[in-house]
Order: sequence, then structure tokens, then C-alpha cells
Amino acid sequence: VDESVREDMTKLEDTFPGISERFRLVNRIGEGTFSTVYKAEDLLYDHYDNDWDIFGQAQQKEAWVSPPSKRRRVNGEQTARRNCRYVALKKIYVTSSPIRIQNELELLHDLRGCRAVCPLITAFRYQDQVVAVLPYFPHTDFRIQYRTFMVADMRHYLRSLLTALQSVHEHDILHRDIKPTNFLYNPELKEGVLVDFGLAERQGSEYTSACLCTHQSYVRRSRIVSSHYSKNPPSSGLSAGYPKNDSRPSRRANRAGTRGFRAPEVLFKCTSQTTKIDMWSVGVILLTLLGRRFPFFNSADDIDAMIEMSSIFGIRRMKAASAMHGQIFETNIPTIGEKGYSWEKLIKWSSCVEDLTESELQATRLLSGLMELDPNKRFSAEEALQHEFFTNPVH
Ligand code: ADP
Ligand code: MG
Repeated sequence: VDESVREDMTKLEDTFPGISERFRLVNRIGEGTFSTVYKAEDLLYDHYDNDWDIFGQAQQKEAWVSPPSKRRRVNGEQTARRNCRYVALKKIYVTSSPIRIQNELELLHDLRGCRAVCPLITAFRYQDQVVAVLPYFPHTDFRIQYRTFMVADMRHYLRSLLTALQSVHEHDILHRDIKPTNFLYNPELKEGVLVDFGLAERQGSEYTSACLCTHQSYVRRSRIVSSHYSKNPPSSGLSAGYPKNDSRPSRRANRAGTRGFRAPEVLFKCTSQTTKIDMWSVGVILLTLLGRRFPFFNSADDIDAMIEMSSIFGIRRMKAASAMHGQIFETNIPTIGEKGYSWEKLIKWSSCVEDLTESELQATRLLSGLMELDPNKRFSAEEALQHEFFTNPVH
């Protein structure tokens, strides 16, 4: 372990009373804008009957902590069982709003027992510091695996991710930040777990209301912006894509998420966003896998993202999509055509192949149902799992 990481871990052990009696920090495994995640050994592991079962949870909803003797076979297969001798300690930065931290922990608590959703073991607070304890889940970095994925691997990956989302959405929860780093996939188990509910919200909740935005980090994390850019184009003289005399009223909407994965309705500032925004992001992951390009979309801001989207869908469909959300789409960028391109053509270009195989074509049909501009027509997780790609796969 790196010297600076060691120092960082010692600091946590020293500043958080009691933590070193319970856990031995092993390594730092994630460092983001909002948290640092450490792998740790639970020193009291032997004292508790805490043999955690992430995947078999659906079968034993209430009793998802069960002794090894109760392991059972589901559909003839031993369910993957992770004991939690090793845990992931997620130290949430003190700059995060207490409301957001509580929200994340509460939603995780609601989702306990859901297959392929990483369960929350417990959480500790000392003063303003909060540490969430999750079972450690061994996984492979997406950047290493995406290029080598065969269609069969994509199928396992997506089935697991969609299974997680089906439960999350059944609970009327939007994850809002579906992307590879938040879905920890284990190629040997052919299953993954969904993590990071830091941006998640209940459908129709008022978490997006402006009153919560006074807290600095909340503002940073899920910025709510008015469409000021359409009224005040950047002074750099940038005119392409920006209408000159724009008299549209500005609108506020939650646009929390990660660039490149935001659904069109988020970009169009739709104020009643649904669980379908997660389905778009699943589509972006599938597009990444089929196109063998990561990140697939690389826009710096929402306007750029819309330009990328328009290059694919074409002006006609973008106009129709924006109208659905009461917006008007205009562009004078010459490279954006009226009609756009088919997914098949795009994937062929992106992955530099002449033709797609039958199974890739089947995956492409699923893709078009996920990356559907109209959220009402876009597949739900349940519908996606019923797709021929899963129920009648061609090999
Ligand atoms: P953040 O809000 O900082 O993005 P995440 O919950 O996404 O926090 O965790 C950040 C990273 O830490 C993940 O991308 C993953 O690499 C690692 N991580 C999180 N939870 C676990 C876990 N239960 N097991 C293994 N690694 C994890
Ligand atoms: Mg994350």
C-alpha cells in the first residue's frame, strides 16, 4: 500500500473513535468527489453470524443474514454468497449535505433484500463524519473488461444490472447515476452489485426543490441550473447551436448525474423525470460495450451533449423530443443532419467492423429500446428483461 494511502487510513483510524477496534483498514479502493471508499477487514467477523448473501436475497427477503448451513440451491445453482469478512467503508465527505447523506442511507435501507443491490450493513457517525459499511464486493474495473466482452458477457452484465434496477424502480426510486463505476461487476460470478445511491431519489419527491440548494456541496453535486446559457450565450462569440434571440422562459430541473449518461429529458429540463432516466443510462453502457468505446459520449456540458445526441438522432427526431417537454430545438450546425443514423451503422463505425453478428444485431435491437428519446416508449427494466436478447438469445 502506497505511503500516502497508509497515512490517509491512519488518519481515519485516529480521528474516528472505535473504528480501529472493529475494522482493520486494508486499502483505499475508491476516491471520488463525494466520498472515499476503503477495503477493510471486519475484526468481529467471527463473533457474528454475518454471512452475507447479496444475490440470494430475493429468496429470503427478510432473513438475508443467514448461517452457511442454510445455503440453498436456486434454480439448480448455488447462489453466489459473499461473506463479509471484508467490508467496504464508505467515508462520506463532511461537505456533503446531511440531508443527502440521510437520503442515501435511507434509500439503501429501503432496498435491503433486493437482488444485485449492494446492501448496507450499518453506518457510523462521529461528529460530522459518516461512514457507511457495505459488504466488500470483488469486481473488475470496467475500463479493463469492456473491450474484451463477448455478446454473452454483455448479456450477463446487463441481466444483472437490469435485475437490480427492476427492484429499485419497483420501489419508485430513481438511481440517477447509472454508469460503470457504480455497478460493480464480477465476471466470474457473472453478477454485479449496484452501488452509490448518493444521487438517488424517490420518484416525484421534492428533493429537487431549490430550498435544499443552499448547501454548498448539494449545489455542487446536484446542481439545479436555469437555462441561462440559452439567454446569455457565452461571450466567446460561440454561436453555433445557440439561438440568438431566445425569448424562452428559463426552467429549473434536476440534472444530477454524470455527463455522457444523462437522458434526453434531463437535458431538456423535464421537471417530471421518471425511473426511465436510468434506462437511458443502461443504454449508454450497452452502446459502450457494442461500440467498444469508453466513454462513448464525451461532452463537456449539456449543450454539447445535445449536439452529440442530435448527430445520432438527427434534427427531426430531436425537435419532436424537445417538443414533448415543451422545448424548442434549433440548430445551425451543418454536420447535424435531418435524419440521423441507425444504431447498426453507428456501432459498425465505432467498433470498426464491416458487419454485425446475429447476436450483436439482437443486442442492437435492445439498445434501440433503451436509447429511445421518448421516455414513455423507452423500455422499463422489466420490459428489457423480457427482450429476445435475454429470452431467446441467438448464439
Ligand atoms: P462515490 O459517491 O464516491 O462515487 P461509490 O459508492 O460509487 O462512491 O464508491 C466509489 C468506488 O468505491 C466504487 O466505484 C467502487 O470502486 C468502490 N466501492 C464502493 N462500494 C464497494 C463495495 N461494496 N465493494 C467493493 N468496492 C466498492
Ligand atoms: Mg460512484
